Amino acid sequence: MSEERSIPQTMGQQFGRRSWAEPWKIKMVEPIRQLPRPERERAMAEAGYNTFLLRSADVYIDLLTDSGTGAMSDRQWAGLMMGDEAYAGSRNFYRLVETIQAYYGYKYIVPTHQGRGAEHLISQALIQQGDFIPGNMYFTTTRLHQELAGGTFVDVIIDEAHDPTDLHPFKGNIDLEKLQALIDRVGPERIPYISVAGTVNMAGGQPISMANIKAVKALADRYGIRVYLDATRMMENAFFIQEREPGYEDKSIADILKEFCSYTDGAWMSAKKDNLVNIGGWLATNEEAVFERTRNMVVVYEGLHTYGGMAGRDMEALAIGITEAVQDDYVRARVGQVRYLGELLTDWGIPIVQPIGGHAIFLDAKRFYPHIPQDEFPAQTLAADIYIDSGVRGMERGIVSAGRNPETGEHRRPKLELVRLTIPRRVYTQAHMDVVAESIKAVWDKRHDARGLKMVYEPKYLRFFQARFERL
Ligand SMILES: *Cc1c(COP(=O)(O)O)cnc(C)c1O
Repeated sequence: MSEERSIPQTMGQQFGRRSWAEPWKIKMVEPIRQLPRPERERAMAEAGYNTFLLRSADVYIDLLTDSGTGAMSDRQWAGLMMGDEAYAGSRNFYRLVETIQAYYGYKYIVPTHQGRGAEHLISQALIQQGDFIPGNMYFTTTRLHQELAGGTFVDVIIDEAHDPTDLHPFKGNIDLEKLQALIDRVGPERIPYISVAGTVNMAGGQPISMANIKAVKALADRYGIRVYLDATRMMENAFFIQEREPGYEDKSIADILKEFCSYTDGAWMSAKKDNLVNIGGWLATNEEAVFERTRNMVVVYEGLHTYGGMAGRDMEALAIGITEAVQDDYVRARVGQVRYLGELLTDWGIPIVQPIGGHAIFLDAKRFYPHIPQDEFPAQTLAADIYIDSGVRGMERGIVSAGRNPETGEHRRPKLELVRLTIPRRVYTQAHMDVVAESIKAVWDKRHDARGLKMVYEPKYLRFFQARFERL
């Protein structure tokens, strides 16, 4: 904690007594409706108690994910009309490349259809059979692509990240001793890159500090190991650095983002998150040889290297989205809305991961349903119960998401057993947040009656998307 300032308790304290508001107004609306309770019960049973298997028309407030669910601006919609749908060399591609270079600072860009397309390319390009890839907590698709390429992911995040009550301001930090121990154990030549994520999703949207990435880069340089960044939510990470790290309070989000990326050799990106588009992704690198390999592979798996699975119009909206997503007032309102919901729940004594992260609230299902053992899927149960109460859809981030160890076939048993309520960008209002909070409170008040689930169908890969359950 020594290097960092403490976390402001509320946005109100940070900005005096004045409220913040979104730097936009609403121009178009999409009707939503709440099904009656008996229909919600039926829909949940039909979906096998897996919120991924619900129909969106049966959902009232959809907090399943912030992936591709954001609202585009009028400028982005106008940008769609500027799509240059040439197969090769689309004007929109060059604008996208220039925008990524300007804001993230990387030299070479390979477009992909979404984040996992970029993860696939970088994993196949850099990982050899038997390699180890250290990272600040796993992410589902990232780790799977590393494993499919023959690597083994090794979690080197600080211990505080696994404790949902620990108030460390940068719980996304890498533990340098764990990293050093892995280098000593397997040798630097078995580590193709360090896999660093901004605002670590699985830890509750927790940021990594500038001091930490600098130290990671210095250690990596000593051994000639690359550092690659999962830049999916770096805008939100930059906001937390601005808020909490001494020396950054007067720097802009854009400046912080660029400095952070300068300590890495490249990045992969799910543009569906904080680049404010519904589909898209990219891979960036400063290494010419890596660029050449991935630019060649993209032709096999995604599309030509000047569109990578995106339409020209998608690339235009994405370039515009980047310029909007780095605005300080936008990011402050974005994180502010997440924090508003989290503070309501905290005030009511409902256990959530602290500190409140950048993109979602994570309910701590272990403390919510302490009577349900992990083998009966407490977080899966809680996500189902919230939907039944109100039609609000969240998702499990616990033992189901963690999957099985490919060698032993056993469940991986993560310390964190969470329900994620992810806030789409620029979509819902503060009133929606109130409705969500009140529903969770209603489930909390009946928590002693809750019964767990048993898994009745389990797919081989990324089972959380398609697994089915029955009520015990
Ligand atoms: C969503 C996500 C990905 C994968 O991106 P897709 O666009 O869903 O393929 C990778 N890393 C993180 C941290 C993500 O949140």
